Amino acid sequence: MSKRSRVHNTQAKEKEIIDRWRGMETPQTGRHLSNHVEPEVVEALRSAVVKAYPKLSHRYYEMKRGWLGLERMEVWDRNAPLPMEDSRIVGWDAAEATVMEAYNAFDPRMGEIAKPFFKDGWIDAGVKPGKAPGAFAHPTVTDVHPYVMLNYLGKPRDVMTLAHELGHGVHQVLAAGQGEMLSSTPLTLAETASVFGEMLTFQKMLEKAETQAERKVLLAGKVEDMINTVVRQIAFYDFECKLHDARRGGELTPEDINALWMSVQAESLGPAFDFMEGYETFWAYIPHFVHSPFYVYAYAFGDGLVNALYAVYREGGEGFAEKYFDMLKAGGSKHHKDLLAPFGLDASDPKFWDKGLSMISDMIDELEAMG
Ligand SMILES: [Zn+2]
Repeated sequence: MSKRSRVHNTQAKEKEIIDRWRGMETPQTGRHLSNHVEPEVVEALRSAVVKAYPKLSHRYYEMKRGWLGLERMEVWDRNAPLPMEDSRIVGWDAAEATVMEAYNAFDPRMGEIAKPFFKDGWIDAGVKPGKAPGAFAHPTVTDVHPYVMLNYLGKPRDVMTLAHELGHGVHQVLAAGQGEMLSSTPLTLAETASVFGEMLTFQKMLEKAETQAERKVLLAGKVEDMINTVVRQIAFYDFECKLHDARRGGELTPEDINALWMSVQAESLGPAFDFMEGYETFWAYIPHFVHSPFYVYAYAFGDGLVNALYAVYREGGEGFAEKYFDMLKAGGSKHHKDLLAPFGLDASDPKFWDKGLSMISDMIDELEAMG
């Protein structure tokens, strides 16, 4: 037995024992509890996404196959750069201007909160030797102010990262009034302001695109990101559900685990793909499966929730900005049902998730129409 499959077998068995001792009904129960989310809400998300695979990932990757001029897609083509992409660098000042313009256009109050991050040096953006990779916003303590750390290299994606972390920063400033204990949200709501800020900035960049080709690259990049966050993470979640379920029937061989992995890969990526030899063992590269079981659906939850919110904003919902600020100010003090009710949204309704998913399929429609 391979080492990794021993780890997964042991981990799933240990979890089953602990869950039983703690009276947890299912392998997912503990995660749902810590996320403050009901099992039927997660199931509504899961089934809406799985049902949408054909109109999301299957359709997009078939189109990408054509752009790349390939007979068949391989797993390494999934995130490959597009042939029409240019390598233009966006300077820091231009990035600041784009993000600030997007935030201000949403509401000047949002721009006001974002401004000191730039003006008072709350952002460490430069790349230097020994600096940690990645990006984050840290709230420090509620009576000071947050800091943002990122590694800015001037790619269009880095502008989105800036918008993302600044969204966290705005959320942290607004929620600070809740105090140390209640300001931070559960995982499922943690990415609300960040992903929303990204969406505002993305729409601004799209508006400014000068050519069809530029628009196409932006749209395709966004669609790929969203497929990676929504489709792929739900496929991961499905894999974990199958794994824990199967383990309850006895020890699993590496081949058993490979088969579970491949079943969700083929289903979620779609008919454009061939799978290289060896891909069947790629379940071994996801650390979440070992360190934080069932964590992955929170990514899809966050993205789906923001897409639904953004759809309401796009429809021109009455007093949207006011309600949005109230939502952020609540920090972790309210349940998702109470936070979403003012927008006429309810996450336990499958139509809620469809609303969010239609944001992605609309973009794929537009890409298809461009040819
Ligand atoms: Zn984030």
